[in-house]
Amino acid sequence: MSIENPKHQKMLADLLAVCRKNLPKVNEGMLTKAFEFALEAHKHDLRASGEPYFSHPYEVAMIVAEEFPLDDITVVSTLLHDVVEDTDFDLNLMTKEFGNEVTEIVDGVTKISGIFKGQDITKAENYRKMLLSMVKDVRVILVKFADRLHNMRTLEFVTPDKQKRISQETLEIYAPFANRFGLARVKWELEDLSFKYLNRELYEDLVKKVKSSRKERETYIKRFSDPVKKKLDEYKLEYEMGGRPKHFYSIYRKMMKRGKPFQEIYDLFAVRIILETENANDCYTTLGIVNQMYLPVPDRFKDYISIPKNNNYQSIHTTVIGPEGRLVEVQIRTKKMHEIAERGLAAHWRYKEDKSTSDKDLDNWLNWIRDIFEGAGKDETRREILEDFKLNLYQDEIYIFTPKGELRRLPIDSTPVDFAFDIHSNIGYQCIGAKINGKIVPLDTTLNSGDQIEIITSKNHHPNKNWLKFVKTQKAKSAIRKWLNKEEEKIVKQGKEIWDKKLKKLKLSFTTSDVSRIARKYKYDNNSLFYQAIAQGNVNLDNILIDARSKTGEEHEKILEFEKFADIARKDAGGILVDGKSSGIMYSYAKCCNPIPGDPVIGYITIGEGVKIHRKTCSNLLNLSKIDADKLVSVQWPGTDGTLFVAGLVMRGEDNPGILNDIAHTIVSYKNTNIKSININTNDSTFDGSVTVYVNNLEHLTTLVDRLKKLKGLYKVERFEGG
Ligand code: MN
Repeated sequence: MSIENPKHQKMLADLLAVCRKNLPKVNEGMLTKAFEFALEAHKHDLRASGEPYFSHPYEVAMIVAEEFPLDDITVVSTLLHDVVEDTDFDLNLMTKEFGNEVTEIVDGVTKISGIFKGQDITKAENYRKMLLSMVKDVRVILVKFADRLHNMRTLEFVTPDKQKRISQETLEIYAPFANRFGLARVKWELEDLSFKYLNRELYEDLVKKVKSSRKERETYIKRFSDPVKKKLDEYKLEYEMGGRPKHFYSIYRKMMKRGKPFQEIYDLFAVRIILETENANDCYTTLGIVNQMYLPVPDRFKDYISIPKNNNYQSIHTTVIGPEGRLVEVQIRTKKMHEIAERGLAAHWRYKEDKSTSDKDLDNWLNWIRDIFEGAGKDETRREILEDFKLNLYQDEIYIFTPKGELRRLPIDSTPVDFAFDIHSNIGYQCIGAKINGKIVPLDTTLNSGDQIEIITSKNHHPNKNWLKFVKTQKAKSAIRKWLNKEEEKIVKQGKEIWDKKLKKLKLSFTTSDVSRIARKYKYDNNSLFYQAIAQGNVNLDNILIDARSKTGEEHEKILEFEKFADIARKDAGGILVDGKSSGIMYSYAKCCNPIPGDPVIGYITIGEGVKIHRKTCSNLLNLSKIDADKLVSVQWPGTDGTLFVAGLVMRGEDNPGILNDIAHTIVSYKNTNIKSININTNDSTFDGSVTVYVNNLEHLTTLVDRLKKLKGLYKVERFEGG
């Protein structure tokens, strides 16, 4: 490729000249190649104005070289910024021709441009955050600013609707951004252009008013300036002095804010003195001169040279009373300070003495911006900027659109499932698929800022356990877990129903602790898991029940336990008195009614087993006595004569093997207390029991309760009234 057209040759020469003037280092070969590349790529395209499309990337590149003179890479990227989106050239080819850095910037510009297409702006702040969350290289933003500035300058040629939309976006997003970057000049131009398209009548009215008062203003400023200039010349200071341009949008805003008419707002004259010096002291000399000529207004003096503003703005501001008693605002600054005020930090490195180290300077500058936006600031300046913008947060966030263009914020690496739950838990529950920017994708696909997501749902679909492996938001995680738990409960319930039905059929009955013993035997950690296994058909119920029955189960154990208790109680009570005698007669306790100390008892003489001790209420005994009443013999527990009364105790404690023993011991060993009855129910790991005892008096009972309370594993012992 080579450039034949003299017009194009001149354009290239102009661009190279601006670059040489403003940039520390210029790779002219690469710039020329990018120029040719863009020219070729856009050769068939036209702008809305009817001009060849190439004029756009070219003008944008000129803006970059003029307004944000960072480096030649940015200018090259700018020339190519619309190539990928609008023509057949792709990123691979670009990488091959221009390297990774350029390609990444161009790709970044393409992506952030895509976000705004077809979206209405509802919350500008969100867009600003989104924009930054996507940008790894600040140069992307600079190219985008320049692109926007040129589009605003040529907005005349698009439809009024589009003019309004783009202007609104510019005013809400780009202008404040430019301000934050310290690009004051760009900010003013963007604001004035937006203002023009958003409120053309007012804009034109202001333009007219400013124009009609111009001559008068110029005359006045000359009257004010001439004596000052004379004095400055005497001091051999080099300077530029003149009226300060007023910006239409800022006049408009002041009128609105202060509710004052144009005349009052515009009445204030503004003069700026820019000194051709590196010595800040000259500014104070100049201030002295101005104050000698005109009386300063107290409280209107600001020294931003000693104490610069956060964005490094430096200047002296003073207001003095000029000729005819009119107020004049005077700004005094060096040329370098002025450059920084107008162009932001991009101007900084241009004043470095050693331009050969500019690569490093550029890095420093980029790092500085990156720090502001990404890092937590250490010093006051950074913290204030962060407070203003809170950008450090956005690095962990992405911004996603709903199909209706609504913006949602999600943590980085979120998936369509996170998005679905973010919208509504039911959408999450029924989510079966997702479309990203119209294309169907797997549910574990990672989302990127700017993606538009549509969730496909189905009424009969349910969350999947595997989702927990990839979802990022707490909201999705807990909703999925909640659903899975509910589902688990259902299965447990099902399993329990199967189990209960089976037991009923076999006429078996197990307590909860019986079940947990069986469950543990078959290696299930708890009853729920056991029931789940039953519901899922993972256990052979018949085998388990045969096994459980063959040992006559827990019922047997229960009986043994009670007998043990009864034995201890009987022994502690001192056995039984047959016919008032404590020895010589063989006796044993009947298994049918298991009498314990305190029970009213009666003996029945058997053959070979001596006297069988029954409760008086034993139904078995009643049958026997009908047959042979002669065999009945009177028996007593020792010490049950006197005035005894029955008291009930309720207790709760740990279901451990020794507890019944301990209770029986404690009761019986105190004053030979007799137990009338005992009734124990065990639940999983605790038992509830009621015991009735014979006591002599209240003191007897109270001491008994106190002793029981000292037992380890017994949580509660209380007198049971009215039972
Ligand atoms: Mn463009």
